[in-house]
Amino acid sequence: MLDLYKVQKRRWGQVMDHSRNAVPRVDFLGTGNAFSPHGRMHALAIIDGSILIDTPPTLLTQLRRSGFSGDDIEHILFTHWHGDHNFGFPFLMLDRKYISNRDAKVGLDVYLRPGGRNTLGSLCRLGFPGSLEALDQMIDWHESEHEVIGDTGWKFYRFPVLHNPETDPHGYELVHESNFRLLHCGDSGPCDEIDNRAGRADVIIVEMGMPDIGEFPHHHRPSDVVELAYRNPHAKILVTHNYSSGKGFKEGFEIPNLPDTICQLEDGDSLIIDEEGSFEIIRKN
Ligand SMILES: [Zn+2]
Ligand SMILES: [Zn+2]
Repeated sequence: MLDLYKVQKRRWGQVMDHSRNAVPRVDFLGTGNAFSPHGRMHALAIIDGSILIDTPPTLLTQLRRSGFSGDDIEHILFTHWHGDHNFGFPFLMLDRKYISNRDAKVGLDVYLRPGGRNTLGSLCRLGFPGSLEALDQMIDWHESEHEVIGDTGWKFYRFPVLHNPETDPHGYELVHESNFRLLHCGDSGPCDEIDNRAGRADVIIVEMGMPDIGEFPHHHRPSDVVELAYRNPHAKILVTHNYSSGKGFKEGFEIPNLPDTICQLEDGDSLIIDEEGSFEIIRKN
């Protein structure tokens, strides 16, 4: 299975070249919540090798281990301002400035909420004082709530979700030119904003940050994910930002038993979408 994954990745690398006719895909380089459960890195997703959703603390490690370079990233979509979703940003900018994008050939478009620029600027100044002062020369900032993502063939609609309000939490409805619809719920508990969009989604990515050990309105628990799947039998549910340990690990929280229709992703899994909008999930192991 590992070999298959590698073969597909290589093939993808050959045909990708940011062509609009390339097969769309999403790579899940991390699937854990803020606590880095055993066997999982923090959650992040890369669409078509160039659109990154969130920049967790170990972003550079995650990119390198999967064969990506810092200058592969051309677009970043931020969901909210918790450290497990953005503390890797200064490291990516440092890598691009001094190693992978020294000649500044590859532009970077960052899509975020108003105010987010200050957060990221502060992080960069705190992490690497004097080295990352000129972010505006390295980044094109986008603060609108819906936009076409360059020439990738994707566009997004951002929407508010239910999570710690101090983090300005949002999700993304991503629409490919093939009409494939991917709903990324962000870090959130169940809410109308998700339900209103879930009905037309082909695939729903949901962050399951807490176990069923109490009431957590700001997070999806396994019971909430089961209900989401029950309300949306037409869509494939992919679970990431999992509180449980990865497959094969005995320490920490056990992987919860969920119906077979729900896929609890592991690090390195991928979603591949074909031209007709059908898709398959490639498990790394
Ligand atoms: Zn998180
Ligand atoms: Zn969060």
